[in-house]
Amino acid sequence: MIEIVTVEDFKTYKSKEGYFIITDTTGRKLHATRCTFVDLKHFSEKVADNANRNGKYFYTDDFFEAREYPKVKKCEACRRYL
Ligand SMILES: [Zn+2]
Repeated sequence: MIEIVTVEDFKTYKSKEGYFIITDTTGRKLHATRCTFVDLKHFSEKVADNANRNGKYFYTDDFFEAREYPKVKKCEACRRYL
């Protein structure tokens, strides 16, 4: 699992098959990379601009690794891709 901290990395991994875990104050969500919530604008606000210190993005191509992330929940919007 890779923590995504730059816009360049975000764009690179967003274009791949795989999974994002997005953490923030509301919880930890597992998304498919194609999910509309895996969004450059939100990433920039949460991470690149450091507006939300609790906001972190992780990428993995391994679904089982993603699912094992502590307390992660599947995103309701993209769970059909998961
Ligand atoms: Zn999603």
